[in-house]
Order: sequence, then C-alpha cells, then structure tokens
Amino acid sequence: MGAGRGKALRELGVGTLGDLLEYFPRTYQVERSERPIAQLVPHQIQIARGEVTAVDYIPYPRPRFEATLRDPTGILSLAWFNGAFLRTRIHPGQILRVQGKVGYFRGLAQMVQAKWEVIQPDAPLVGEDLVRAIYPASGKLKSLAIWKIVDANIEAALAGVQEWFPPELLKSRGLPGRREAYRAIHQPTTLTEAASARRRLVYDELMLMQLALCLSRKLRDIDTQAPALKFDRTLDQRILARFPFHLTEAQQMAAWQILRDMQQSHPMNRLLQGDVGCGKTVVALYAMLAAVANRYQAVVLAPTETLAEQHYLTISNFLAGSSVSIELFTQRTKKEGRGGLQRHLAAGDIHIAIGTQALIQEDMQFANLGLVVVDEQHKLGVGQRGILKNKGLSPHYLVMTATPIPRTLALSYFAHFDITTITQLPSGRQPIKTTWFRETQRAEAVMLLKRELQAGRQAYIVVPQVDEDIADQGVKSVSAECDRLKRGVLADWRVGMIHGQMKTQEKQAAMLAFRRHEVDVLVATTVIEVGIDVPNATVMLIENADRFGLSQLHQLRGRVGRGEHASLCLLLSDPTSEDATERLTVMTQTASGFDIAEADLKLRGPGEFFGMRQHGLPEFKLADITGELELLKLTRQDAEAMLQNDPQLRRLSLMALRRELLAQFGESLALPQIG
Ligand code: ADP
Ligand code: MG
Repeated sequence: MGAGRGKALRELGVGTLGDLLEYFPRTYQVERSERPIAQLVPHQIQIARGEVTAVDYIPYPRPRFEATLRDPTGILSLAWFNGAFLRTRIHPGQILRVQGKVGYFRGLAQMVQAKWEVIQPDAPLVGEDLVRAIYPASGKLKSLAIWKIVDANIEAALAGVQEWFPPELLKSRGLPGRREAYRAIHQPTTLTEAASARRRLVYDELMLMQLALCLSRKLRDIDTQAPALKFDRTLDQRILARFPFHLTEAQQMAAWQILRDMQQSHPMNRLLQGDVGCGKTVVALYAMLAAVANRYQAVVLAPTETLAEQHYLTISNFLAGSSVSIELFTQRTKKEGRGGLQRHLAAGDIHIAIGTQALIQEDMQFANLGLVVVDEQHKLGVGQRGILKNKGLSPHYLVMTATPIPRTLALSYFAHFDITTITQLPSGRQPIKTTWFRETQRAEAVMLLKRELQAGRQAYIVVPQVDEDIADQGVKSVSAECDRLKRGVLADWRVGMIHGQMKTQEKQAAMLAFRRHEVDVLVATTVIEVGIDVPNATVMLIENADRFGLSQLHQLRGRVGRGEHASLCLLLSDPTSEDATERLTVMTQTASGFDIAEADLKLRGPGEFFGMRQHGLPEFKLADITGELELLKLTRQDAEAMLQNDPQLRRLSLMALRRELLAQFGESLALPQIG
C-alpha cells in the first residue's frame, strides 16, 4: 500500500489491520450485471443494453466517436475518444451491450470508453447479482478504493480474529462465528448474509457492555455498605398520615419498592420515572421520612435554585407541625451564615437538607446520610453518584425524572439503575388536547385561547428564546410579544410576563400575580417549564413551536391539565425541517411521556438526548442502541447467565473474551475480585 493511501486511511481512523476490519460498510449495493438505463447508478461500473439510435464522429478538437443507446427506460450516451475505427463497426439499429463507469452529463447518463459488443435482441441477461459493500468514503479515498484495500488485506486481518463465545451459545442464538461474521460484513454473497454478520457483531458489542455492567454491579454490591432501614406497618401508617390525600396505587407500589431496597445493606440505586405531576415528589418524601424515622438524614438535590425552593415549600407544608427539621441551602444561605447550617448538618440536627446539586456537593459534611434524592426533572444528566461527604455508610440513591427512560436505554446506559415507573396520575386530572396550527390558522388558535379566558380560565403563551444571543433575544422577544398582545388581540385582558432574565423576586411576583388570577395571560419563556402549578390555567399557546425539542414541548404542555377543567395545548408553527414536522406531529398524536421520550430518542440519538456522554460506556461502532431492543434483552440475559456459571470468566473458552473485557474496561472491573 502506498504512503498516500496509508495516510488517507489513517485520516479515516484506520491504522491497523484490526481497524480495517472494523471499518464497517455503510450500506450495500446490489450490482445486477445488467440494468435498465434509467436505473444505472452513477460512478459505478455498470452494464446496460439498448438499441443504437444515432452515431456521430467529431474530429476536433479531440477526435471522438459518439453513439446514442436507447432502451425502454431511457437514453445512454456513449463516447469513445480516438474512436475513428468505430465508424465502420457501430451502426444505428444494432443492439449493443456496453459496460463502463456511468457518469451524468447535462442530466443524461453517459459512458466514456465503454466496453461494447453487438448482441442479438433476445440475448439473455448476463451474470449474477453481486453484493458490494459501500464504505464511508473521504475526499481522498473513495468507497471503491477502500473496498479494494479491504479485499487485499482481509485474509491477513481475519487471521487475528478470535472467537469470544462458546459454540453452544452461538448455535442457540443462531449467530455465525466471529471470523465468518467479519468476512461476511465486508464481502457478503447475499444481503441476508450481510444482515446476519451485522447481527453477530452487534451482539458482540452489546454482550461486552452487558458483561461489564453486570460485573460492575456485582463489584458495587460487594464494596459498599448502606444503612439497612427498619420498616413496618406502623411506620407506613405514620408516614401516610402526613399526606392530605390517599396515595394512588402506583405511588404506593413505588414507595414499597423503594422501601424494599432500603431495607438492604447495599445501596439502592433506583430511578423513579413518571410524567410531571404524577406524584414522584410525594413518593420520594415517603422514602425520606422512612430514613429520618430510622435516624438517618436525607438530602434532596435539585437542578435549579427555584426548584430547590419549591421542594422546600412543598415538603415543609406536608411536615408542618412535625419534629422533622428541614433546611434549604441556597446561594443566599451560602452568604449568610452557612457555617452554622453546615455545623448542624454535620452534627445531624438537620434531618432533611434541600439544595441545588452544585451547592450541596461542594463541601457539605453529613453526620449520617441515609438517602439522597436527586431531582433530574427532565435534564437527564444522571451521571455517577455524586460524591457526598458522609461519616457513615454509603447512602441510598433515588433519582426522579420526568423524562421516562426508553427501554433500550434502560437496558444499556441506565442498566445500573433499577427503575420504577409511575404511569397513573392522581385522580381528577384532565387530558390535554394538543393541536398544531399553521401561521395562516393563527386566528383560530387565538379564538380557542380567548374562549378559555371568557370561561374564566387562564392562559400561557410561550415564546422561544431566539437564537445565538439568548441573553438579549429572549428578553426582547418576550417583552415585545407581551406589548404586541396588550395592544392587539388581548387588549381586553390582563397580560403579564416572566422570563429568565428577571430577578428572582420579579419572577416570584409575576408568578404570584398569575396564581392569584390578577393576570389572565402569562407570556413566558421556557422558565415556566418546571415547577409551575396553576390549576386554573387551561390553555397554552406555544409560538414557533418548531424551535423546541420534543421533550421540552411535552414538559411545557405539562403546565396545563392540572385542574378539574379540560385543557388545550396550541402549537403554532410553520416548520422548516422534517425533524420539526415530526416533533409537532408526535405532540399531537400522543400525550404519553413514554412515547414522547422514545420518539425524541429516535430523532436525536442518545448523545443529544442526554446532552452529555455517559458513564464511560463504549461508543458503539456498529450498534445503534435505539434500534436494538431485542438484542439488548438477549445480551442482558446471556451475560447474566454466563456470569452465573462462571463469575470470573475463568473458563478456557472465554479467555479471548476476558482479555477483550479487560482491554476495553480496564482494571476497573477487577475481575479477580469478583466471584
Ligand atoms: P411530580 O414530582 O411527579 O411532578 P408531585 O409529587 O410534585 O409530582 O405531585 C404533583 C401534585 O399532585 C402536587 O400538588 C401533589 O401534592 C399532588 N399529589 C401527589 N400525589 C397525589 C395524590 N395521590 N392525590 C392527590 N394529589 C396528589
Ligand atoms: Mg415535581
């Protein structure tokens, strides 16, 4: 291989034979030996046949012979430079079979210097279908060039491939051998063979991940000790008495599941998911009270200060008159005598501490922390357990999220969590009807909004924070929109506004006025997407709805439908992209947070969906995790069974696998310790 080639390959990330094997085709092309002219694929060597309808010889500037070939589907133009001799060979009326690289010139398919032969009109089509891998190419290295490099090196590369799994397992799963799979993914004879090869290699990637996850879970259970809480019916009743309502069945089940975990002496790691308003906070409070009753502290970590405050208010309300001491840690308390609070925390006098993740993780010392509740809301940045300083054992962890984890992710990126799902809303909640309007239908949307106002309800109008300069644009668009409405269509109504650049007090005042119904319409940015709860607000109009992400739209929509009245979500948008159209369509079709999350994941892919890389899990070369539910389930099962039989993967037949696991996940798995 020339030095230029080598460099071009390295630019594609291919430095070794192993890399070359894993430089997987993007897709396959089935090359039929002969194609109708209309189906000729550009830039490939192809075969076609047709009748010669015209010929021409052009002596200057460079002598060339031209012919036009026609079949029932189209016209192919042929040119041969220095083809003077063809004048006596190729004539109109002949049937030619030609082979050459297809180009397009002025919209017409063209072959230059084609190989040709005159055939009988009824000559059979030649050749068999050929499946050819198409590689992700670069400017310097075309797919075909890569194909040739793979072809020249595949034997040598395959010699280095070892089988990872025992033949019985492969047989029972209908998987080809590893070497066979690598060969077939590059040089399949049929598309079915290519698909089967791909399935095997995806299985390998997922299996490796599942084994690593399983092993690290075991390691965690061995290494860390958590407080085992005592829990009985009396305590259950005492806690339930704190709530002014009956827990829904789903809440009760969730609470018990959590309590079952916390009675163990290894730490709970549980994700509590469910749509906004389904009552997660109440369930978390139940768990906190169980911890406190066992003389352990609990902490709530919220993503923003506003949310921390809100949790503080909610929880204080439920606990009014009890002896449980609750403290809120904010930027303010940080300035004013946080030292005192910190001492109380370290002494164990504070039972429930509430604050932002940033604040509390900084330098707080707990006396005997038993439970950490992380409110992720919908940010889903769930990373490693935060490092909280605790004198005692490792605390239990409960993460609340309003963005449900799609099942594919629950089996991969979130596999280290046990998951509890609340699907039921407290009774009396009303469904939200979502409708999408084009700009031309604006009047109709406004009319629906006004109809709610006339019935005594309130409305949100959400305006996106436009573009690059969020700080400026957001303010401008909200206040400009607010003025426009006051002067225009909503002149008869009381209009207020809220946005992120307002001071905390201004925001609170704006919210209070809306809650007290001193304002009918609240024009807002996405600051309202979290934590606002005004049951009388029954309609939300979202301007430029295409500018919002799917999960975000769903969260916004969750601000209405909180009272006894049926609610509306009105999306206004002339979307400019297919993705945006898809988002709006999904919104009108489902109210289920679960479906929304699945759709969002498909549209954005896992990286975007999380907004960050997670947990040091591998980035897959081949697997698209969002589409592999079946293999994810299978590998989870197979990994667990394999480790059950052979906890340290000591078996001779698993040596290559073991080596690969250690190479990819390093000593962190501490294989020798497991068992
Ligand atoms: P989430 O945290 O899932 O968004 P919350 O726990 O904050 O939900 O509950 C949303 C609202 O519903 C709160 O006002 C809460 O007091 C109320 N709520 C929670 N559980 C119930 C229930 N079982 N019955 C009636 N209201 C409930
Ligand atoms: Mg909540």
